[in-house]
Amino acid sequence: MIMCAGIPPAAHAQATGGNIHPMFDDPENVGTITAWHAHVYFDQESRATAAWLRERVAEHHPAARFGHWHEVKVGPHPGPMYQIAFTSGDAALLIPFLALNRRGLTILVHPDTGRPRADHLEHALWMGAVLPLDAAALVERPK
Ligand SMILES: [Zn+2]
Repeated sequence: MIMCAGIPPAAHAQATGGNIHPMFDDPENVGTITAWHAHVYFDQESRATAAWLRERVAEHHPAARFGHWHEVKVGPHPGPMYQIAFTSGDAALLIPFLALNRRGLTILVHPDTGRPRADHLEHALWMGAVLPLDAAALVERPK
């Protein structure tokens, strides 16, 4: 039986009811990631900052692809935003670029593994805040 590192077997059995905790399932395979998205949220006040960031990303990461400015809520997103799509290769520099330059903006970064629900709700990296997503708008697909 697989055990939690550093937790005595008796304490582990008590904590889990004797079951192997789901955290011990096989890890997700990063090879399933076909792209990354960054969703940059804005409101009236932060719109100019969002425009500034969009221009800087375009300058410094020319391979990034930009979605439309969504001025109203769309899909699972709780408010206005635009999307930036990029490859796993570009993620290594683009995610840090967003971290250093978001200037107070809230950004959802998530991988695209073809499972929108898991990608937005479980695999998400949030910068600045965690906003509530509309889970009903996210389709579940099997691995
Ligand atoms: Zn997305």
